[in-house]
Amino acid sequence: MHGDPAQHYCPACGSDRVSPRLVHHWRCEACGVTDWKNPQPVAGTFVVRDRRVLLVRRSREMEYGAGRWAFPGGFVEQGETPWQAAVRETCEEAGVRPRILRALPPQTVLAPHHIVMPFLAELTADEEPAPGSECDEVAWFAFDEIPWEEIAFPTTTAALRGLVAGEAGTDVYGEVASPDRARMSLRYCARCGTPLGAPGADGAVRCPSCTTARWVNPSPTAGFLAIGERRILLGLRSQGRDGAGRWALPSGHMEPGETPAETAARELLEETGVEAVADRFVGLFASGDHSEAVYAGPILAEHAAPTGEFADLGWFTGAEAEGLSTHHGTPRLVRWARASGLLD
Ligand SMILES: [Zn+2]
Ligand SMILES: [Zn+2]
Repeated sequence: MHGDPAQHYCPACGSDRVSPRLVHHWRCEACGVTDWKNPQPVAGTFVVRDRRVLLVRRSREMEYGAGRWAFPGGFVEQGETPWQAAVRETCEEAGVRPRILRALPPQTVLAPHHIVMPFLAELTADEEPAPGSECDEVAWFAFDEIPWEEIAFPTTTAALRGLVAGEAGTDVYGEVASPDRARMSLRYCARCGTPLGAPGADGAVRCPSCTTARWVNPSPTAGFLAIGERRILLGLRSQGRDGAGRWALPSGHMEPGETPAETAARELLEETGVEAVADRFVGLFASGDHSEAVYAGPILAEHAAPTGEFADLGWFTGAEAEGLSTHHGTPRLVRWARASGLLD
């Protein structure tokens, strides 16, 4: 178990009418806000020019990774999509505003639990990077000259190795709406109910009474694109859920300690009874309050369908799926699966 899941008060309205849902998920019966204990989302860019990648040397004063090389990146803030955060961080750390090309596979670090979402990006020919406030140096590295021993974080190393190996990432990403979801504002300590002040320099709000720190970030989720016998598996979202009455991929919030691929496979099994391996990153969708990494992979078994999250389940041809009223990134994934020849 990572961290303490205790939550006794609504962080938005201070009510103590807070009910647990699932393991690390609460709903306030007074104001309807939902809250999760989730990994922190991080986003950044790999800017590539002539098979050289732009890295920044972190300042000697940084708490983590001081003096070592990283990609320009940082925490996704409430209201941002990961790619907006990646561009903002690259502006702040490397003095350039890149154009995002593709979403690369997310990486996970477990302690503290971060989901790192890297993007492949490019600059216009006349843009030259320069070190920002948190960096001592910026430099371009040819793929065969990357200073592997001086990389700050294992997630950067893993993402860089994928990039060098030619990992394609995906251009299936985009902004989605969460029309039914109440946005949480962090005004009360969830643990002791004390009113909170402004965030500190690190973006965390600390309770003046019990010192619990909270970061307000979009919540990372993961979904599974399951295709069996050339049909896509969708669920009709139950009443009371975000997107109620619409068809969607099985998906849900990451629990502490999970990678997005693990979340995707777990949610698929819990919501549909289908057991599968999430071995391919296929898409990324985000609103200002959550981001969803979508995976695909081989189906191993089908168990009895549970009830709850979905009021109904179905396997659909491409034409059938495009005719449904669908939720979040599902329409783009259906179009992608059809264009890739995966659906009848
Ligand atoms: Zn509330
Ligand atoms: Zn407190």
